[in-house]
Amino acid sequence: MTEPARATTDALVEMNGVNKHFGDLHVLKDIDLTVTRGEVVVVIGPSGSGKSTLCRTINRLEPIDSGEIRIDGVPLPAEGKELARLRAEVGMVFQSFNLFAHKSVLENVCLGPVKVKGIKPKEARERAMELLTRVGVADQADKLPAQLSGGQQQRVAIARALAMAPKVMLFDEPTSALDPEMINEVLDVMTALARDGMTMIVVTHEMGFARRAADRVVFMDEGRIVEEAVPEEFFGNPRTARAQDFLSKLL
Ligand code: ADP
Ligand code: MG
Repeated sequence: MTEPARATTDALVEMNGVNKHFGDLHVLKDIDLTVTRGEVVVVIGPSGSGKSTLCRTINRLEPIDSGEIRIDGVPLPAEGKELARLRAEVGMVFQSFNLFAHKSVLENVCLGPVKVKGIKPKEARERAMELLTRVGVADQADKLPAQLSGGQQQRVAIARALAMAPKVMLFDEPTSALDPEMINEVLDVMTALARDGMTMIVVTHEMGFARRAADRVVFMDEGRIVEEAVPEEFFGNPRTARAQDFLSKLL
């Protein structure tokens, strides 16, 4: 028996006709975006174009005004147990690492699985150590976040998100707060994750990462998806004047 080739074509995140306002400001305009299982989508665009808001609507840190968002086929509800369950399927890594300052690195990674998923502490610790090993900071497990470098803290934040066994990982400018020499150690972890088949939505200004790791680049401007293409096509031959203008300013 051959397995159906579903695993690579399934829609994992679907945004259909999503609109979002902050007061009079129309921040997301008719967003249609489908991310399939295993796909890595890099979102780029000028500051204020709605990239962070887009990420935040996907696990409903921000409510939407109209349209629909589905996670693995299930519509994201406004509240309740189903929302909590779906949120656990969406890992998020922010620019500011957002670690619990008074908990050890290991505790930071264990907390969610124990409190939210009811995993036994011993099992959670073992799994956390595996993840800390995977992101290269196992030797820092007993330290407090402030004792780590920014790059190390961000890798802990990635391990913490992975500990919830998410179906998709969202990264909102994960390297923007880092000193230049630490950017690559975080991008390397993300690249490895992408290679391992994790479904990822990554907002970044790191165009090298986009070229290397993205299956698709989505370019946003003023709340709209203006252009999307595979990286070679987007960087080599941007179709819209806005994308051309944006890319020319990066050089
Ligand atoms: P980006 O991440 O692309 O820089 P954002 O999604 O952060 O863009 O912001 C899009 C627009 O929405 C900006 O004009 C920003 O000022 C505005 N905005 C973002 N968050 C809020 C908020 N909580 N309240 C009001 N306006 C907001
Ligand atoms: Mg942003």
